[in-house]
Parts: sequence; structure tokens; C-alpha cells
Amino acid sequence: MVFCTSIHCMDGRIQEPIRDYLKNNHRIKYVDTITEPGPCRILSDNNEKSLIESVLARIEISVNRHKSRLIAVSGHYDCAGNPCGEKEQKEQIDKSVEYLKMLYPELEIIGLWIDDKWKVGATPCGCPGQAHRPAPT
Ligand SMILES: [Zn+2]
Repeated sequence: MVFCTSIHCMDGRIQEPIRDYLKNNHRIKYVDTITEPGPCRILSDNNEKSLIESVLARIEISVNRHKSRLIAVSGHYDCAGNPCGEKEQKEQIDKSVEYLKMLYPELEIIGLWIDDKWKVGATPCGCPGQAHRPAPT
């Protein structure tokens, strides 16, 4: 695997930690990066259609042109774009992972949390049976 896709916050403090984590833990050479402020909130709320479409259009490029087989979605400590607590953000990450699994069942989808030391870790994800809102049309 050479390329992966990471959907993460625009926050400058998390860019290198996420790239390093994916390169070191998933044998990735290049991390295609899709940034929005608090993207796990955007994907889990499923309200801002134009933003979601924009994210999905960028995923398509990474998956179709770069043959990415792994999509990571993350949240982080002290997020200005998504100022809610760790527990709530992790729920949003779980929901976002479920949503992306539904859209890309053939790909590996992972959730990541970046803590107050800017350390990246996998979130325990995949709540089977948990209903997710339908994809935007
Ligand atoms: Zn943020």
C-alpha cells in the first residue's frame, strides 16, 4: 500500500503526528490529506451537504487515482472547529467510520484520536448494528 487517505482537522498541530502515525503503522508512503475544521463532526452530523460532497469528491480522487485502500478519520484534543469533549468526539469518529464503511465497504476504514500530547491512537470502532443516517443524496 502506497497511498492512504486521511480526513482530519485543518489544525496545524496535528498534521505531522497523523502523517507519521499512518506511515509508521500502516506502511504508507504518501498520505492524501483532506482537511476541514472538525471533520468527524461534519460527517457524523450529516447536515452540511455541500461540505460532505466536497469531502467525498476528494476521497474519490484519492481512491480512484491513487488507489488508496485505507481511509482514516480523526478527531483531536482542543479542536477549535469542533469544541466538544473527547467522549463526544470519539462517538462522532465512530459514526464517521461507520458511514465511510457503508460507502466504501471494500476499503479499510479506521478512526484515530489525537490526545493532549499530540499522540495518535486508534479508536475502538465499529459498533455493529448501530444504525447510521442514510448517505446524502
Ligand atoms: Zn480541530
